[in-house]
Amino acid sequence: MGIIVQKFGGTSVGTIERIQKVAKRVMEEVNRGNQVVVVVSAMGKTTDHLVDMAKQINSKPSKREMDMLLTTGEQVTISLLSLALLENGYEAVSYTGWQAGILTESIHSNARIANIDTKRINEQLAHGKIVVVAGFQGVTSAGEITTLGRGGSDTTAVALAAALHADKCDIYTDVTGVYTTDPRYVKTARKLQSVSYDEMLELANLGAGVLHPRAVEFAKNYLMPLEVRSSMELENGTVIEEEVSMEKNLIVRGIAFEDQITRVTVNGLENGLRTLSSIFSTLAKNGVNVDIIIQSTTSLDTTSISFSVKTADLQDAINVLKKNKEEINFENIEHESGLAKVSIVGSGMISNPGVAAEMFNVLAENGIQVKMVSTSEIKVSTVIEKESMIKAVEALHDAFNLSEEQVNHESKVTV
Ligand code: ASP
Ligand code: MG
Repeated sequence: MGIIVQKFGGTSVGTIERIQKVAKRVMEEVNRGNQVVVVVSAMGKTTDHLVDMAKQINSKPSKREMDMLLTTGEQVTISLLSLALLENGYEAVSYTGWQAGILTESIHSNARIANIDTKRINEQLAHGKIVVVAGFQGVTSAGEITTLGRGGSDTTAVALAAALHADKCDIYTDVTGVYTTDPRYVKTARKLQSVSYDEMLELANLGAGVLHPRAVEFAKNYLMPLEVRSSMELENGTVIEEEVSMEKNLIVRGIAFEDQITRVTVNGLENGLRTLSSIFSTLAKNGVNVDIIIQSTTSLDTTSISFSVKTADLQDAINVLKKNKEEINFENIEHESGLAKVSIVGSGMISNPGVAAEMFNVLAENGIQVKMVSTSEIKVSTVIEKESMIKAVEALHDAFNLSEEQVNHESKVTV
């Protein structure tokens, strides 16, 4: 007997019928002899509707009040799911974040989990109860209710699994696993059997919405095995673990993409030692998140710096720069919206040179101009025109053989 944490996302609990189906899934796990903790999201699009309502009343709603509002979504689901379990004769109890002992840092709307006191959950498990916990929420040491950022229920689940020393954390969702790329856009996308923590972390950070990046971070730090799987279908999902044994030969494991990217260029900067630090500390201090950075020196004493931001953050970035124009000391700012970021990710890149070159080749052959590039050990990201985004993803998906079923080449190696 072990502890299993199951997490069900918004779509999976979107209607009463679906909550009843989820209850079945939970009961099956209990029937297998496991102790079960369930983490749920708010039903369907509840969180979006709550945000909408707040915006109708207040153009710049206070983050504290938003947390108070948004946490109600998950509270509805925990009680309904507990009621469904009780109706079926199973012992269950629902807990909000604070009741479950989830302590966060004192930041509203995007708090990190600081600590989990599992006493109460453990007691209930010991009494044979199924514990249903509200995802996405916690409490500060001062007793303020916080949320973990959109999509944060995944993080609640993985953090709880780690704190409870669970055997496994299953993330039930409306897709059957992690795909080589988004199957809604690319017909040949294929479900992966497994993916490493590092690859998943890159994919999640690069726009693959299937898992909250912080959830993957937790899983990696505590070596908690995760499985992303369908709440509707019974087939196996994708396992996220440290060592990926299957499909080892894949150099590129997945392609992530996102649009709504803007490139900002600051011209006429002094080519000095402190220029970079001054511009990016100013942006950071004002909460502007920048992604790819490129510096190009135009003459001996002036330089230009380009960086990419999410288009939603463009106005903030420009305002901050303009406000600090004297201090940063630049001539003008230009920007180009309507861009997208396409990234290839795979641990196999570490030992295989030429992957970036191949990516640029494929894009060039398709007449797609690369505007910015950034790399890490296991990814290459390019910024291109948004119009070419899907075309680029399809071409890369083909070029890196992601559509084909992979055979295990290891068994074919002859000495
Ligand atoms: N309900 C929250 C959201 O929609 C948290 C979650 O579902 O993970 O972002
Ligand atoms: Mg989600």
